[in-house]
Amino acid sequence: MIKKILLCLILLVNLPQLQAAEFPFTLHKLQSAAAGPTILIIGGIQGDEPGGFTAASLLVTDYEIFRGEVWVVPNLNFESIIKRSRGVYGDMNRKFLDIPPDDPEYQAVMKIKKIITNRQIDLVLNLHDGSGFYNPEYVDKNENPRRWGQSIVIDQSSIESETFSNLELIANNAIDSANTKIDSFREKFVLKNTRTREGDKEMEKTLTYFAIKNGKAAMGVEASKSYPTDRRIINHLRFIESMLDQMGIEFRRNFPLTTKTIKKKLGRDIQLAMFDNKIIYDFDTARKRIGYVPIKKKSAIEFKTNNPLVAIINSAQSYKVRYGNRGVTTLSPEYLDYDNTLTEIQVEIDGVNSLVQIGTMIGVSRNFMIQPMPGRRINVIGYRKPGQRNESGLLIHKEEISRRFSVDRQADKYRVEFYQQKKYSGMILIDFSGKSRINAATKVSMPAS
Ligand SMILES: [Zn+2]
Repeated sequence: MIKKILLCLILLVNLPQLQAAEFPFTLHKLQSAAAGPTILIIGGIQGDEPGGFTAASLLVTDYEIFRGEVWVVPNLNFESIIKRSRGVYGDMNRKFLDIPPDDPEYQAVMKIKKIITNRQIDLVLNLHDGSGFYNPEYVDKNENPRRWGQSIVIDQSSIESETFSNLELIANNAIDSANTKIDSFREKFVLKNTRTREGDKEMEKTLTYFAIKNGKAAMGVEASKSYPTDRRIINHLRFIESMLDQMGIEFRRNFPLTTKTIKKKLGRDIQLAMFDNKIIYDFDTARKRIGYVPIKKKSAIEFKTNNPLVAIINSAQSYKVRYGNRGVTTLSPEYLDYDNTLTEIQVEIDGVNSLVQIGTMIGVSRNFMIQPMPGRRINVIGYRKPGQRNESGLLIHKEEISRRFSVDRQADKYRVEFYQQKKYSGMILIDFSGKSRINAATKVSMPAS
């Protein structure tokens, strides 16, 4: 079983002008107990290449490593990803030779350089979605030496380093092995050597060439933009897996590599925990809009999520939850003061009394009852009983809650909120889907950086 890990991200929304630092990239170290090489995989250096950054994020959420380590930065240019832009502040992949300190991406570039040059890193893959199809011969407008799609890009054939020095050989082996899984001739990966050292002024400014100059094996992976995103993701993962095999990094993928399963994963199965678990939502598929979200008054938005492509952005009277460049849901806020005195509550779940922590999701198959607490009001969102303002001490069945108040489109998950006078004390999420993970939302792990 893959552990569901909540990653920590903090977004400051009360600054008037958005700055790059508000959407910091995250580094995820997939570690194993067995010693082996370490690969660094980077996605999203350009925000309009979803094949690469989504493939990288799937490594974080859906792969387990058994030998060696896989370090993943799935969202290097996170602000551009969210804003569906190649680069909000220009092309980040031209900022590795030289960057003025007043560039909004200065900090991010310095930080990723430090990760690339970390002693432990043996090889770097920079994931891109490239135009057309690379072919050393001119075939047509879409397939020729100037195109990038379905190529593995190296700057030179070898580097000075103790391990992984023969770039061309390593790339070709991984290409051959990836290509055995690709039927269409045009889709097969091809090696592209840009011979950057021989005077390619543009390529000199790139991330991979920075790595090369620092003695790190590095290559670009270009999935063709001629394919839809799901197929690009598959191509990325095929090459990455072949490279892991080459390097002796052992892994397990948690889903079959088909467009059908990939499509089903995009923007799904997302958990959000806000304000230190005072608000928790869990969506297989989220409703378009969630109303009356008790946002903390006069505070920046603080949230954690299980998916590194999830961000929350403040937009007019609401908060948009994004998954990369797609929308997940919109939260309509109700600004409230918070009360921090409630940590656990008594709930009868299917006839059994349990002590439940605030900020957890609990599975219920038939009914539940929140035990009364003096001085507190309980609100089961979507449940109504005439004349009843406090919904504690009532045995509540799924059918008694109005479906449209669920947080998910499957109408399985409902909010139970707690108040002390006008202050908001927290919530639990009731899950009638039958698949619930009790306490899932409280298992929090900070991403290493
Ligand atoms: Zn690119």
